[in-house]
Amino acid sequence: MLRWVGRRMKGLEYDLNASYAYADQAKGVLHLTKADFKLELGADLAGQLIHEARHLGIPAYGHVPCTVPGVGSDPSCDPTIAEDFDGGGSHAIAALWLSWIANRSEWPYSARKSAEKTVEWVLKNRINDTYNADRFACRYLGRNVWNTRAACR
Ligand SMILES: [Zn+2]
Repeated sequence: MLRWVGRRMKGLEYDLNASYAYADQAKGVLHLTKADFKLELGADLAGQLIHEARHLGIPAYGHVPCTVPGVGSDPSCDPTIAEDFDGGGSHAIAALWLSWIANRSEWPYSARKSAEKTVEWVLKNRINDTYNADRFACRYLGRNVWNTRAACR
């Protein structure tokens, strides 16, 4: 996975002035902040790198305005969730990778639980397509995150 990240980027900056991580699409450089290195577990840092590296694709990937209930309309969402790395947006592919960490990896229990919480947060706050967010949640978390009264089918 990190080889995929490395192929997409030309540089990685530890950016003390940035208020959040971002991808400079023109230069192919990922900028990480102090906050990214506070991430206690390597899985979360890797998830951030995967997210930002997706922004460097050709064509470069950009977020869309959020339509998720209660999130506001900032352009920080993905239209939907996807289960392939070429088709998914930045949040989608990071969530997919973190789902694998949560369910299939041999990372410590705390890392797997943290990855699961991040996936749930992304599905509830950064994926506009709540129907498919629930379908993804059922497959990877074993429960809906939106239609919580319904059982997974
Ligand atoms: Zn992004």
